[in-house]
Amino acid sequence: MRMALLPGSFDPVTNGHLDIIRRAGKIFDRIIVAVAINDSKSALFSIEERKVHLEEICRDISNVEVISFPGLLLHAARDFGVTAVVRGLRAISDFEYEFQMAMMNRELDSSFETVFLMSSPEYSFVSSRMIKQIVRLGGDVSTFVPPVVAKALDEKKKSGEIE
Ligand code: ADP
Repeated sequence: MRMALLPGSFDPVTNGHLDIIRRAGKIFDRIIVAVAINDSKSALFSIEERKVHLEEICRDISNVEVISFPGLLLHAARDFGVTAVVRGLRAISDFEYEFQMAMMNRELDSSFETVFLMSSPEYSFVSSRMIKQIVRLGGDVSTFVPPVVAKALDEKKKSGEIE
C-alpha cells in the first residue's frame, strides 16, 4: 500500500489545505494528515480543535486519517511505517524552507521522500496566517475556509480570542 504523511500546523485548515489533501488522496492509497504539536508556535486553535476540523472536512474522503504528532516528522513517519511526505507548494517563497526541510529529512534518513504538489491557482494566495489576519481586521474569510472553520473563527472573534 502506498501511504504518505501530510504534515502541517493547520491553524486553521483552509480550502488550500483541503485541495492538497484531496489531490494527495488520489495519488496515494492512504493519507495520514498529521497535525504538528509545536510548543514554540503560539496557536489560535488547540490541537484537538484542529483535529476536529480536519476530521469534519475529510469525512467524505475514505482514505484519509487524521493524527497529531510531537517532535520530529521523521519519527512520526517511522511510527506509521511511512517513508513519503506530501507538502503543498504555493509561491516561490515556500520553496526555500521546503527545499531545506526535504534535504534535511533525506540527510537524516535516505529512504525518506518528499512529494510536492503545486497549489491550485485559486488557493495559491491562501495561508492560515493571512486568514487569521483578515478575521482580526473584521473581514469575511468564508470563501477561503471550510464552513466548520468559518464558524469556529467567528466564535473565536465573538469571544474575544481574536482581537
Ligand atoms: P506548516 O506550519 O508546516 O507550514 P501549514 O499548516 O501552514 O503547515 O501547511 C501545511 C502544508 O500545506 C504545507 O505543505 C503548506 O505548504 C501547504 N499549504 C498551506 N496552504 C496551502 C495552499 N493554499 N495551497 C497549497 N498548499 C498549501
